[in-house]
Amino acid sequence: MFDLLKDFWLLFGRLFPFPTRPGLRKAGNPDRSSPVLVTCNFELTVRKVIQALERDHIDAWVLVAPTKGINVWCAAGGGHFTTDTVVSILKTSGIENLVDHRRIILPQLSAVGVNIWALKDRTGWTPHFGPVDINHLAAYLTGGEYRAERRHRRVEFPLKERFIMGTNLAFNSLVFLIVPFLVASIWVTGLWWKSIALLFLLGVLNSVLVLWLPGNPGVRKGFSLGLLASAVFVVMAQTAWTMEPAATLGWTGWIVLLSTYLGYDMPSWSPLWRADVKELVTGVKHTHVEVVPERCIGCGLCTIVCPASVFELNPEMKISRVVHLEACQACGACIENCPKEAIDNNFRAGVCSCPTCTVINSVKSHKRKDAERNGGETEPVAAAGCCESGDCESGEIECSQHQWIPDNVI
Ligand code: SF4
Ligand code: SF4
Repeated sequence: MFDLLKDFWLLFGRLFPFPTRPGLRKAGNPDRSSPVLVTCNFELTVRKVIQALERDHIDAWVLVAPTKGINVWCAAGGGHFTTDTVVSILKTSGIENLVDHRRIILPQLSAVGVNIWALKDRTGWTPHFGPVDINHLAAYLTGGEYRAERRHRRVEFPLKERFIMGTNLAFNSLVFLIVPFLVASIWVTGLWWKSIALLFLLGVLNSVLVLWLPGNPGVRKGFSLGLLASAVFVVMAQTAWTMEPAATLGWTGWIVLLSTYLGYDMPSWSPLWRADVKELVTGVKHTHVEVVPERCIGCGLCTIVCPASVFELNPEMKISRVVHLEACQACGACIENCPKEAIDNNFRAGVCSCPTCTVINSVKSHKRKDAERNGGETEPVAAAGCCESGDCESGEIECSQHQWIPDNVI
């Protein structure tokens, strides 16, 4: 019974952290050649990862990193699943004594916070980004090549997931709104339970219909849904329920207000949320990315880490290019991991402390540290751990040091 209640809480209240002990876990009977995976220490994720591996008969070592009990994407976006986090679990788990190889597989969505060039440089391990969904890991490991199909690198957000997110959204909002609801019910009888019902209905509708609602920032989508829902409400109130005009007007405003709040809250505290809000305030669209061809060496890493398939690699020209800008989630993973700072953006580094800017600043500070290690050069140097010879302006992606990145690309 307790387990059932816990699972219910983890599924529908998963916007709240729920940590499990960081450390080393086994899936099946791993040996010295088994793959090494890293995941977060959100309890539900750890259980799902191990269950999926055992279901697919994959014997593996699983490193549960200390991410404050937060799921992978949120932890990475919020600065709790970073290069430091992975370095720390690699160094404290004793895994180097248990395997003969030095390859680790990171969840793709951790790319927002983990810079694999720095990770390789600091640990000597060769990191790879696995697929978005653990259920695609078996296909990824096939043949030992560590390749993921492009569709397995996209966050699809299917209907079932959107429904669960909608209930999470409403539940999360309820924690903050329950007191105002109770206070308001002093003046309007029954307001609080009707508001809770409305909150869940609008939360689910906001999430389920998000792909089709007009407007870009979530707040505009929430407002659009509020107008739509209140129009339906007015028709029902004036025909089937014969409600007083004043009460109808009050409820209409309440519906629009709640729906707008839910739309605003939907991307949670992700970089996309910050970018959306900033766009509303400043009018500047912050989800703009662009490849600078002169800098790009065609390593393909941006096509691997992007959860929205924004980039496409042109193997003939050996450069990447933006093909679906409209899909950009402003996560910053491409900026964090591009070894040549070849991705231009208007996220405006340094003007605020939002996670997007923090990502960019952390990249810059990482590059600065690399520059210090490489004799104080101020320009971006060759990716750390990528090329022993230092600079690599020639774009020789076939060199042996570069092979480990293009291997991932399909
Ligand atoms: S990660 Fe950077 S260097 Fe590599 S293909 Fe993308 S833009 Fe080019
Ligand atoms: S293009 Fe946008 S969605 Fe893709 S990795 Fe970069 S910031 Fe994230």
